[in-house]
Amino acid sequence: MRKQTVRDIEIERQRVLVRVDFNVPLDEEGVILDDLRIRSALPTIEYLREQRAKVILCAHLGRPKGKIVESLRLAPIARRLAELQDAPVASAPDCIGAEVEAAVAALGEGEVLLLENLRFHPEEEANDHAFARQLAALADLYVNDAFGVAHRAHASTEGVARLLPAVAGLLMEKETEYLDRIIAEPERPLGAIIGGAKIADKLGVLRTLLAKTDVLIIGGGMANTFLKAQGHAVGDSLVEDGQLEAARALIDEAAQRSVRLLLPIDVVVADRFAADARHKTVPVDQVPDGWRILDVGERSVATYSEALRSCRTVVWNGPLGVAEFPQFARGSATLARFLAGLDAVTIVGGGETAAMVRETGLAERFDHISTGGGAFLEYLEGRELPGIAALRDG
Ligand code: ADP
Ligand code: MG
Repeated sequence: MRKQTVRDIEIERQRVLVRVDFNVPLDEEGVILDDLRIRSALPTIEYLREQRAKVILCAHLGRPKGKIVESLRLAPIARRLAELQDAPVASAPDCIGAEVEAAVAALGEGEVLLLENLRFHPEEEANDHAFARQLAALADLYVNDAFGVAHRAHASTEGVARLLPAVAGLLMEKETEYLDRIIAEPERPLGAIIGGAKIADKLGVLRTLLAKTDVLIIGGGMANTFLKAQGHAVGDSLVEDGQLEAARALIDEAAQRSVRLLLPIDVVVADRFAADARHKTVPVDQVPDGWRILDVGERSVATYSEALRSCRTVVWNGPLGVAEFPQFARGSATLARFLAGLDAVTIVGGGETAAMVRETGLAERFDHISTGGGAFLEYLEGRELPGIAALRDG
C-alpha cells in the first residue's frame, strides 16, 4: 500500500472523521463476544488524541439494511471503547444531521465522539454522494482505519474519501504491511493454509497463492471437492460438484509450478452434522457411505506441520474443520499450536479463523491476526480495494 497515513499530514487540533471497523460479534443480549476490532483501532485513536484532534468515529454494526434496528445501536461499543482507552466517549444519536453537527461543535480537543450506526441509512451502502457530503461536512480530514470494510465502496469508505484530505490509519497501515509481506517479496519458503467451507469463495485467492507459495495446504470443507476430484468417495460430505474441474486445474497447475500441494491423508468423519455426532478417523480412501468429513485427521496435521517446518512466512485462512464444534476443532487447534511455536512470520485472516486462533489462547504468538475477512482475501488476491484506492498516494 503506497498511501499516506496519519503520520504524513498535519492533524493538530483538526476535526478528524475516522472510519473504524467496530463490527464485533454480539450475543443475543447484545454482549460483545470479541473486542479484537475495537482494540485494534486504539493506536490510531490514541495518536489522534495526542495530536489534540477532535476525533469523530464512524462505524457500522451488523446488517440493519438501511433501517434503525435498536439492537444494532453503537452505545455498547462506545462504552467498551471508553473502558479500553480509559477516557470518555460521547455517542451521537445519528451519523448525520443537526444533532450530530451540534455534538461535533461541542467536542473538545482530544475528545472522542462515536456516531450512530452508518448502515441505519440506506445511502451508506449505496455510496450516495449527498450522504457522503453530509459526513464530510463534519470534519476537516478523513482517516480510514477500517481495513475489514476496505473492499466495499460505501459512502463512509470511498465516497467521503473523495471529499476531504484522506489518509490511512495505523491499523490500515499494519494490515497492509503484513499482507504485502506475502504478496510482494515474502521471505521464503512461503506456506499458505487455506481451509473453510467453499472453494467457490476462495478460487481467486487459491489461484494467486499458487503463483506465489512454495507450500499450499488445503483443508476444511473445500478439501472434500479436491478429494472427490482425485476419485475418492466422500460420503455425505459437503462437496461442490460445480468446482470439480477447478480443483483438478489447481492440482495440475501446482504440479507444473512445483508447488507442494497438500491435501488431507486422513479425516475425521461423523454420522451427522452435529456437535455430539458419533465420529472416527479414517484414511481418505475409506470414508464410509452416509458419513461426512468434519475435520482433518492427526496424520494430515503431522504432514502439514512437516511441510511448514522450514517456512519463513506462513499465511492461514479458513479452519481445517468445523471448528465451531469442539470435537471437530482438533485439527485446527493442533496446527495453531504448531504455528505458534514456529520461527516464521505467521499471519492469520478470516472471521472464523481469527476467532478459532483466539480461542486456543495462542493469539499473542502469531505475528498478525487480521481484522479482515473478505478484505483480507481480496487484498491477498492482489485486487485494489476501493477504500484504500481513494486515499492520498504516499
Ligand atoms: P473464515 O471466516 O475464517 O474466512 P470460512 O468462512 O471460509 O472461514 O470457513 C469457515 C467455515 O467453514 C465454518 O463455518 C466451518 O464450519 C466450515 N467448515 C470447515 N470445515 C468444514 C467441513 N469439513 N465441512 C463443512 N463445513 C466446514
Ligand atoms: Mg467466514
